[in-house]
Amino acid sequence: MPQPDVLEKLVSLSKRRGFIFQSSEIYGGAASVWDYGPLGVELKRNLQDRWWRDIVRWRDDIEGLDTAILMHPKVWEASGHVSGFVDPLVECKNCKRRFRADDPALKGAPGTPEAQCPVCGSKGTIGEARQFNLMFKTFMGPVEETAAIVYLRPETAQGTYVNFLNVQQATRQRVPFGIAQIGKAFRNEITPGNFIFRTREFEQMEMQFFVEPGTDMEWFEKWRAWRMEWHKGLGLASDRLRFYDQKKEELAHYARAATDIHFDFGGSLGFAEIEGVHNRGDFDLTQHQTVSGKRLEYVDQANNKRFIPYIVETACGPNRTLLALMVNGYTEEKVEGEEEGRTVIKLQPSLAPIKAGVFPLVKKDGMPEFATKLADELRRKFPVFYDESGAIGRRYRRQDEVGTPFCVTIDGQTIQDSTVTIRDRDTLKQDRVAADKVAGWISQRIDDSGS
Ligand SMILES: [Zn+2]
Repeated sequence: MPQPDVLEKLVSLSKRRGFIFQSSEIYGGAASVWDYGPLGVELKRNLQDRWWRDIVRWRDDIEGLDTAILMHPKVWEASGHVSGFVDPLVECKNCKRRFRADDPALKGAPGTPEAQCPVCGSKGTIGEARQFNLMFKTFMGPVEETAAIVYLRPETAQGTYVNFLNVQQATRQRVPFGIAQIGKAFRNEITPGNFIFRTREFEQMEMQFFVEPGTDMEWFEKWRAWRMEWHKGLGLASDRLRFYDQKKEELAHYARAATDIHFDFGGSLGFAEIEGVHNRGDFDLTQHQTVSGKRLEYVDQANNKRFIPYIVETACGPNRTLLALMVNGYTEEKVEGEEEGRTVIKLQPSLAPIKAGVFPLVKKDGMPEFATKLADELRRKFPVFYDESGAIGRRYRRQDEVGTPFCVTIDGQTIQDSTVTIRDRDTLKQDRVAADKVAGWISQRIDDSGS
């Protein structure tokens, strides 16, 4: 069954409720650049924390790393990005718009009289394709000359490769082991789009696993399976996830195997990549060894061997995965006994930006005072939203729409016996809980939802 297209609705909800804003909006916006608002930054951080916990903290064979965005320009010569990180680009001579030469909206072969511009409709104005490098170039220091050119990194992986021996020697890890990092990367995409799915500035959660040659396919298969389970563990629906194994002719020239994990975003985007798992062989370390002239071999003292490890990489896009979580959780549903339906984003409590709404039923009889005090106490444990304005039903709806899993209401009975109700976002069931047990009650459910 095709999934509904909810992207447009999410764009407007994201702005209205403070998940995601268009960059520089008061100046007309920067195309395909997005800012994360108060709720978006919490959701993104929760997702990245989950990854870091599962990959780095809960394993003893993977180390964390955080390398700089700017690197020595030779890195990108060694990695092949200077010569090979290119897309074929064409330009319309009439409207000056640029497209990827393989853009399906282009009709006719570029450079021929039949070629038609998909924007202005002119015929014969699309020039021949030329190679366009996707790396952002800038200058290091005050001199703008060729010798000072540096690049904004197009991936975090190279920072890991050039530090491979530093990390290995500092931690005394033995192959097989991994190095993980989360950070920004930049690609000057010719056609970004689909909200935060494809942007020129984005984040990566990448892990490079160093293994002995010959064991690489075994590790590749393990990581391929583990990463799929991880995405399911976030609550993404199994029937919206699939593997896409790259065919031989699709593989990067150095790759020994590659699989994408696709999520079904619905609508015109459909199934699209949220993570890639790659067997990169010894390409990267060999290249850096050759270009730098420094040995990057691993010395296996126990077995008296030395070799350049093969690398199995897992590269997850947190922005895309965040979008997948919102698409996956977005639900419009009827509520029994109510005319108006509700919009809910069903996120696991551990991922939800706000964990609890705290509401006094009415603004009198000591309820706001009790509720404020409880909210202050809960805020020390997790993000809380205090709300005393409007009908209680509307306050519930406002929290449903941003995925808040629990709403705590202070009512007449609270003033008598210090108990409150906790409403579950998904079942709408209400539990009566002693006020001094609320923090533990909610914390337990947050923890249970994330492991
Ligand atoms: Zn045109």
